[in-house]
Amino acid sequence: MNIEKRHKVSIWYVLIAIWGVLIFQNYLASTYATQTIPYSQFVQKLKQGKIIEVSITEKIIQGLMKSETGSDQQTSFRTVRVDPDTSELLDKYQVNYAATIESTFFRDLLSWILPVLLFVGIWFFLMKRLSAQQPGFMTLGKNKAKVHKQEDINVSFEDVAGVDEAVAELVEVIDFLKNPDKYLEFGGSLPKGILLVGPPGTGKTLLAKAVAGESHVPFFSISGSEFVELFVGMGAARVRDLFDQASTNAPCIVFIDELDALGKVRGFGGAGGHDEREQTLNQLLVEMDGFDPNVGVILMAATNRPEVLDPALLRPGRFDRQVLVDRPDKQGRIAILQVHLKKVKKLGDIDVEELAGMTPGMAGADLASLVNEATLLAVRNRKKTVEKEQFEEAVERLVAGLEKKNRLINPKERRIVAYHELGHALVALSLPGTDPVKKITIVPRGIAALGYTMQVPIEDRFLMTKTELLGKIATLLGGRAAEEMIFQDVSTGAHNDLAKATNIARSMVTEYGMSDKAGQVYYKNEPQAMFLQQGLNRNAIGEYSDETARIIDQEVRSIIDQQYTIAMKLLNEKRKILEEAAMELLEKEKIEGSYLEELIRQKQTAQESGGES
Ligand code: ADP
Ligand code: MG
Ligand code: ZN
Repeated sequence: MNIEKRHKVSIWYVLIAIWGVLIFQNYLASTYATQTIPYSQFVQKLKQGKIIEVSITEKIIQGLMKSETGSDQQTSFRTVRVDPDTSELLDKYQVNYAATIESTFFRDLLSWILPVLLFVGIWFFLMKRLSAQQPGFMTLGKNKAKVHKQEDINVSFEDVAGVDEAVAELVEVIDFLKNPDKYLEFGGSLPKGILLVGPPGTGKTLLAKAVAGESHVPFFSISGSEFVELFVGMGAARVRDLFDQASTNAPCIVFIDELDALGKVRGFGGAGGHDEREQTLNQLLVEMDGFDPNVGVILMAATNRPEVLDPALLRPGRFDRQVLVDRPDKQGRIAILQVHLKKVKKLGDIDVEELAGMTPGMAGADLASLVNEATLLAVRNRKKTVEKEQFEEAVERLVAGLEKKNRLINPKERRIVAYHELGHALVALSLPGTDPVKKITIVPRGIAALGYTMQVPIEDRFLMTKTELLGKIATLLGGRAAEEMIFQDVSTGAHNDLAKATNIARSMVTEYGMSDKAGQVYYKNEPQAMFLQQGLNRNAIGEYSDETARIIDQEVRSIIDQQYTIAMKLLNEKRKILEEAAMELLEKEKIEGSYLEELIRQKQTAQESGGES
């Protein structure tokens, strides 16, 4: 809007200037101390020898002539030419004559000012059309940061649950924005940039909004990807503009979401499209170095891939404070569920703790959609309130994709799936330190899973022992072992299990030092190191000899083989239980873990009493 106005003003200036030039020209040419005489008089004076000198142009003759009065005095004169033939003729008949110049002012006006005006008009019209079609066309290079004034944001820290450590760190930032003097008095200054790091859906964006909502200052949010589009050089201009805007609005918060889109390591990969991003990133670094955090501009950013960020971004004086926003633990999940359950108007009697126990590994966003899904299910099933049943179904949907009841599998495949899943479950139930089995189903879900065994940990775990890891591997291999035992053949259904089991085994050998032959050595390279060495020293990846590589492979192989044997042995011992449970599972499609436990207990007591008699 501003720009358009400025253009209109300048057009008036141009018009006035043209006008002025024309008038000046006329004035100069005609009236500058010059006497205008008719052409006939000029001819007369010429014949009298009164003309001293002339300069002739196409239409006008100018010059000096002797004055009437004194012979020494000269006057300058000017006359409009008449073509020689006519003037000769006129002289002959002694007619007084003069020529005049027709005024060309209006003709000039029409002949070139009008076209200019027309052009300007068309230009404006086109610009209007363009900017209507493509908002922001007139303001190229202006950032697209959305400015939220304090009234807009009604997110508070109460809406963000289960990430208490992150909240505690951010409270200090808010305190600074509210009482800057308290800190400035002591000569303290806040970190320039705060980077929220964590897996997707853990509430990073939500946290940033809560900071804005609690601190009551303007909040500029922009996504990293918005910097890197449209035209070359735009991104850098946008960064500059964003910081300009921020410093005029201080105190305020600038939030760059998904920083990884713009802050990836420079010079990574080949040519094409990289220069633009690099320029933008460089500009960001320059601006970050340039601004003084004590004016009250706080820069926040979020990413779920901190490992791809350019190390320059993480240096002191840039994003020097990193706040981890991790997946919530069970207590955290309880808190988050409570936040979202509050929004459900017709809620039945729900045990939040149990629900939290069913959702290990889920982040805030998953839990939010879980609650929503359960509510929708209650509506679809015409329930009066949202009940536990709906939540359980919602968990299943989220965990394993949508149920596909109408997908047909042939009976042979169903049998394989049933034995396979029970193989997992029985091994898990027989080994110490494995997670309890909650439920086994052979209802096909999602794209890949034909059935699954749901194991629910009793508590969140941060450490795992070697025994537990081995138990996990055995459980994963239990599916294939059951197939081999029952059908003397194996299927492709185990490929995911094998991948997981191999991963665990490899980690045990290379990361956790849990193999005798490989020893307590860390064989794995950090991904960061790989990025830093990029291009300089590619050979540094894999810092162990080929001999060691062979030992690692052998160790992984032997862990897998041993656990497979253990799983096989366990299943052989429980073959009767396996077969009985399989009948039940094939009929009902779903059985509870408790049913299986009960079955094992029954068989055991039967065996013991049978042995005695
Ligand atoms: P991120 O930016 O980390 O990917 P978001 O902040 O966009 O995740 O979270 C998406 C949604 O998930 C939020 O709007 C909120 O409804 C829910 N959510 C995520 N984390 C939490 C949390 N810790 N507490 C409450 N709700 C959460
Ligand atoms: Mg986000
Ligand atoms: Zn399996």
